[in-house]
Amino acid sequence: IQPPPTVVHAFRAAVARAPERPALAYFDGRLTYRETDALSDSVAGYLASRGVGRGDRVAIMLQNTPHFVLALLGAWKAGAIVVPLNPMYKSGEVTHVLKDSEATVLICSDRAWEAYLRTTAAGSPVRVAVTAGEKDLQTRDDPRVLGFERQAKPADTEDLIAVARAGHPAPRYGRDLTATDTALISYTSGTSGTPKGAMNPHGAIMYNAERQRTGHPIAEGAAYFALAPLFHITGMVCELAACVANAGTLVLAYRFEAGVVLDAFAEHRPAYTVGPSTAFMALAAHPDATPDHFASFQVISSGGAPVPPALVEKFRAGFGPYIRNGYGLTECTAPCASVPPEKEAPVDPASGTLSVGVPGPETIVRILDEHGEEVPFGEHGEIAVRGPQVVPGYWRLPEATAETFPGGELRTGDIGFMDPDGWLYVVDRKKDMINASGFKVWPREVEDVLYTHPAVREAAVVGVPDAYRGETVKAYVSLRPGAPAELAAYCAERLAAYKYPREVEILPELPKTTSGKILRRELR
Ligand code: ATP
Repeated sequence: IQPPPTVVHAFRAAVARAPERPALAYFDGRLTYRETDALSDSVAGYLASRGVGRGDRVAIMLQNTPHFVLALLGAWKAGAIVVPLNPMYKSGEVTHVLKDSEATVLICSDRAWEAYLRTTAAGSPVRVAVTAGEKDLQTRDDPRVLGFERQAKPADTEDLIAVARAGHPAPRYGRDLTATDTALISYTSGTSGTPKGAMNPHGAIMYNAERQRTGHPIAEGAAYFALAPLFHITGMVCELAACVANAGTLVLAYRFEAGVVLDAFAEHRPAYTVGPSTAFMALAAHPDATPDHFASFQVISSGGAPVPPALVEKFRAGFGPYIRNGYGLTECTAPCASVPPEKEAPVDPASGTLSVGVPGPETIVRILDEHGEEVPFGEHGEIAVRGPQVVPGYWRLPEATAETFPGGELRTGDIGFMDPDGWLYVVDRKKDMINASGFKVWPREVEDVLYTHPAVREAAVVGVPDAYRGETVKAYVSLRPGAPAELAAYCAERLAAYKYPREVEILPELPKTTSGKILRRELR
């Protein structure tokens, strides 16, 4: 695989190939490649005029909007490293990331700036704030690409749209960005603790984007639907970068809301999307969903979170497409294993786990015991990854880098196994193991059983303290409307006595990260 060195190179190639094709679609609005190029040049010129140069950090805290893409391309064209921030972060998390990354520019919505970022930024290195309007999904009025619902620009900020339209000349620097330059500092989504900044090089992004593009051939110029948020590495790589590499149209819809997403599918007829399995659960449960909504798709992938085999089957039976599993982490710039196009992922007969696919061509996945030795096929151990998509380390954390990337190999913290045909299985996160009377219980296995029950919409299993067993298994579920369920007994019929949940609590919805992962930590 020989991808263009950076996303900017891939973008310029798409501008040359198809200048008048829409690069971005947002509700009724469109921006062509030529327009997107000119607007992002202007953002770059503005940033350069405010002192942003090569390697400086520009934080972007926006939902899936055209503004995100203009800010991103503009920052990269100015030579900067982008720090994507989850717009749902609260002040404390934002302060940590802004200080840690020493971002001098923050690009966010005017609402977030007014609400709390103004005070957060005051104690951080941020010198320049650029704000943009935000579309309100509830009203959906006048959603033109660059003119939707705006408040007056806060006095102490620049207006992103004004900056983009001002026609600032893009900066020229002696040497273009290269594959080894850091493109992003991606703070891990925090399902397990304080965010650490993984440094994703441009080359790693383009390697994975190109692999995604060539591994799942999609007609050039087709529409890619951004189901995963662009601030998360899955969205950035598999949606944005892969779409640009294919000179496609990136369809954006602010943030995940099942009804809005279904409307956008009907309108834009996308060929490709990737999202967390919880998004597909929500789409499948929506009363308006029909097979026609999914008829245009050539490939649907699910990545970043476990995929219950029952979801894949229910989805295929109800709507047609096969959901292709894929495994990745922020630390390996999204996918490192995926299901080859002509195949379907096997289910391990012993545990009922769906395989996450096979490692990519230049990717070496090893399963290691606690001494770092490789274990035989079928045996559980920690998944370790080496390859062109693995990041060189965490931003300014030499100790954590040495611990997580010994000799450049990523220790994922996930327990998995490999079968003799090279299919990889993710059992669970090492730290989520439940120890019930000395027996190991992997929450995933219990969740997979819960998902086979027709009443179950979402399931999460955690260990809770138990005076007799040390820990015992507890399940949290949300149910389909009007569906009663006797879940403990259902599991007891299908799982060993130490594995089935002694307690099942029903919640209207399970807590999730904004990238759609169920938060076991919060339930615990
Ligand atoms: P933090 O690192 O702060 O805990 P996070 O682990 O959720 O956050 P990500 O890099 O977004 O950060 O997620 C990677 C993790 O997601 C993997 O380590 C793995 O546990 C899980 N994961 C990703 N893809 C799959 C998959 N296909 N099946 C099962 N688990 C998956």
